[in-house]
Amino acid sequence: MDFRFSPEEEKFKEEVRTFFEREAECVSAAKEEWDSGLGYGPNCWNILQKIGGKGWLCPTWPKKYGGLALSYMYRYIIMEQMQYYLNIYSTVGAGMAGPVILSHGSEEQKDQFLLPIARGEIEFALGYSEPQAGSDLAALMIRAEDRGDHFLINGSKLFNTRAHYAQYHWLGARTELTEPKYKGISLFIVDLKTPGITISPIWTVGKTRTNEVFYDNVKVPKEALVGQKNRGFYYILEALDYERISTVSGIERDFMEILEYVKKTGKGKDPVIRQKIANLAIEIESARLLALRVAWMLNNEKIPNYEAGMLKLLVSETEQNFVNTSMQIFGPYGQIRKGSKWAQLNGKYERNYRDSLESLVTRGTSEIMRNVIATRGLGLPRG
Ligand SMILES: Cc1cc2nc3c(=O)[nH]c(=O)nc-3n(C[C@H](O)[C@H](O)[C@H](O)COP(=O)(O)OP(=O)(O)OC[C@H]3O[C@@H](n4cnc5c(N)ncnc54)[C@H](O)[C@@H]3O)c2cc1C
Repeated sequence: MDFRFSPEEEKFKEEVRTFFEREAECVSAAKEEWDSGLGYGPNCWNILQKIGGKGWLCPTWPKKYGGLALSYMYRYIIMEQMQYYLNIYSTVGAGMAGPVILSHGSEEQKDQFLLPIARGEIEFALGYSEPQAGSDLAALMIRAEDRGDHFLINGSKLFNTRAHYAQYHWLGARTELTEPKYKGISLFIVDLKTPGITISPIWTVGKTRTNEVFYDNVKVPKEALVGQKNRGFYYILEALDYERISTVSGIERDFMEILEYVKKTGKGKDPVIRQKIANLAIEIESARLLALRVAWMLNNEKIPNYEAGMLKLLVSETEQNFVNTSMQIFGPYGQIRKGSKWAQLNGKYERNYRDSLESLVTRGTSEIMRNVIATRGLGLPRG
């Protein structure tokens, strides 16, 4: 099978690379800001708006919504380069909420949100998880009562990562007490500045900020409902499929750095290290080929629902294995943090090691991905 890009796609890839090289100063300021764990600040917004200004945040969208009406492969090329240069390969708006608005939102929602998403002017925080509803998302309990001319929302959310800098909450809430539970969930777009919303920080072991979000008698207009009432769970599943699609260009970049380190320090003479490095090369290449296969499926209008799960699992476990191996290569020095003269490669992998735990859990844990592959993909029974 030939996985090469076409000559036009290669030319486009070069154009994107040249853009990021030319914007090196903005890129490095944004990367530093992102690495602080606080999310987007002025530097991230700056580069995202430059990318959005070129139509590259949502290149597959129609032109009237800020896209370029290009095929999915172009989006994949941009995602790879964004991940490589910035460590951010998409926004929640561009990659998850936007596509659902495009397919199920009202005309007013399309007019209000799609252009600002494509231009990199607004961001969404995913409002799914609650203390009792993580893997079992259908158990969510935050209530959105239909009060005739508005919804009244009460309850709380846990681990809503972007809520402290996003403008909008992509909120899954219970509108009906039904059996089965998933049939009573609706999806809303809520302005996070609405009175009654409180956002409280939680810091992960990787020193990234996520949040609890509390709703206390929050009045939300009827127009905030996405698609049909009580159909929210299906829209969330669709958005989750988009969320699980990623690239491995960031891991490839870091792998080359570690390979260089191993060569320079002579650690490659150790047969155990050589074996581990070879294994990583195989894993990374497999993940890259799967990412390309998923991109190819989307390019050909096939739905990669369990393949997206395979990709999510493979990328996050490869990342975990990669940082774990890096720590083993550094030995005891691997644990020394940035700032110390003993820190290896400026302590980057000490931080990445802690940070990598997150990707095993977010967007569905590895066990849940295996369940998705076994049931949706291989036809094995649920339960
Ligand atoms: C840093 C961070 C950022 C996050 N950001 C967001 C965000 O922005 N928005 C959002 O809505 N959520 C977010 N989440 C929440 C995340 O999606 C959930 O943590 C995740 O889905 C797991 O849910 P849980 O924590 O409730 O664990 P649980 O669901 O309680 O799982 C606990 C353990 O049991 C296993 N398990 C559960 N059910 C099964 C099963 N059926 N079969 C086999 N094993 C199972 C799990 O794999 C896990 O190992 C974030 C989480 C973290 C840690």
